[in-house]
Amino acid sequence: MIQRVNNAGEAPYLEWEEKGIKVVLYDMDGTLAAHRELKVDEEVKSTLIENRVPEIFPQVAIATDHEKREHVDEFAKMFQEELGFEEVYPVSVGHGFPKKPRRPMAQEVADHFQVEFKEMAVVGDKVPRDYLLAVMMGAGAMALCHEIGEDSHRLRRWRVLAEDAIIRVANLQEIGCYGNGNGSS
Ligand SMILES: [Mg+2]
Repeated sequence: MIQRVNNAGEAPYLEWEEKGIKVVLYDMDGTLAAHRELKVDEEVKSTLIENRVPEIFPQVAIATDHEKREHVDEFAKMFQEELGFEEVYPVSVGHGFPKKPRRPMAQEVADHFQVEFKEMAVVGDKVPRDYLLAVMMGAGAMALCHEIGEDSHRLRRWRVLAEDAIIRVANLQEIGCYGNGNGSS
């Protein structure tokens, strides 16, 4: 099941905990921060804190196509300290991984935290990268949020319509990341 949420703080974290999710893998740009900004979005931050996400999931990861390792490491450190996570583990193109939706970044996170893909949830803002990554991993859950800072984009409503159609079909067909069980598809 893919869930559509307004921002990354609104994913159904308690539900995810109950179904055995152990690690949340976040996209960075458009999901936790405005595109290429070295600052956690204020609304996302307050929603995550309100929903006690750092208590429910003290260990999370950031997987991003950003090509500057220092930027990603700095952002992860900031995200960890400002939100009070126990650990935020960053992986990126800047760390030498291929772009999403290829699997190596997710594999690195799974190995680091010693979890299986089906014990991981993906939170991101892009169907071709984040949703497909979740599908390719066989992630246990996925939430697609609206891209931060793109409200005025004239193509936005068409993109949202297309995304909603993809979500609806994926959930109707029970394809996608939820419930395919073995985490290896
Ligand atoms: Mg993004």
